[in-house]
Amino acid sequence: SKVPPIILNNGVEMPQLGFGVWQVPDDEAETAVATALEAGYRSIDTAAIYGNEDGTGKAIAAAGLPREELFVTTKLWNADQGYDSTLRAFDTSLGKLGLDYVDLYLIHWPTPERGLYVDTYKAFEKLHADGRIRAIGVSNFLPEHLQKLIGETSVVPAVNQIELHPHLQQGASREYHAEQGIATEAWSPLGQGKGLLEVPAIVAIARKHDRTPAQVVLRWHIQLGNVVIPKSVTPSRIKENIDVFDFSLDDEDLAAISALNEDRRIGPDPAEFNGA
Ligand code: NAD
Repeated sequence: SKVPPIILNNGVEMPQLGFGVWQVPDDEAETAVATALEAGYRSIDTAAIYGNEDGTGKAIAAAGLPREELFVTTKLWNADQGYDSTLRAFDTSLGKLGLDYVDLYLIHWPTPERGLYVDTYKAFEKLHADGRIRAIGVSNFLPEHLQKLIGETSVVPAVNQIELHPHLQQGASREYHAEQGIATEAWSPLGQGKGLLEVPAIVAIARKHDRTPAQVVLRWHIQLGNVVIPKSVTPSRIKENIDVFDFSLDDEDLAAISALNEDRRIGPDPAEFNGA
């Protein structure tokens, strides 16, 4: 089943579902990404800090797909924030991926007390103007960080990639993004697969539709309008996770999942995280 695109605020099309490769070692990334491309994924989400841009790039090259059919995202790591260091880090990432351009480049974390994300983003704007990035965006930005960024730069971010799953539904951010024309991309969309996929309400909805809990959670995201990037290295799950475009949750299902919100993060609080 083909993944439908969403249209970003600059007209660029982004597949609404992609493949995430966090915690996939470089030597396994090549196989995992190859499996995903084979299964029909066309969007890949990596990051400099994941250490697997090389393996990801190898799989992309080996697949031999037309470049314009792929949507490749990578992210600038915190230690590289700052105008000149961003330009250098981008070149390094592009080299590892073996590409001439990326589709989406994200500031990985705001690290607000360092006060560098505006300068960093200005380097993103230059790379975008030079045609080396099709869309620029951010990750883990709170509305206050976005507000400052939008006030001090010229290109409204196309995407904010944030932790988002049924236990952390991010209502305030989603609303702010919608007002500003920023697409919401969900990281850890399956809540990292831990307790979430065993929650009775989700298991019951899965039974009702003859689907798996992971498919139900991904379908919930899709119907909310989120971009999702589930990760797996297991071929059967890689296939299962993209097979969510031929069924729909009804209003009752959606309400039952929305009732699971606990505003509970798995990952760090972006206001405080300064990981270098
Ligand atoms: P996820 O929510 O995608 O969960 C992945 C885990 O869920 C797998 O390791 C596996 O244990 C389990 N799983 C996957 N498919 C399953 C299935 N069909 N059935 C049962 N279990 C299944 O978690 P994630 O990897 O943290 O997030 C996805 C992607 O988001 C990452 O790979 C990365 O690309 C991105 N991400 C970004 C940030 C950021 O700061 N921007 C942070 C974390 C993750």
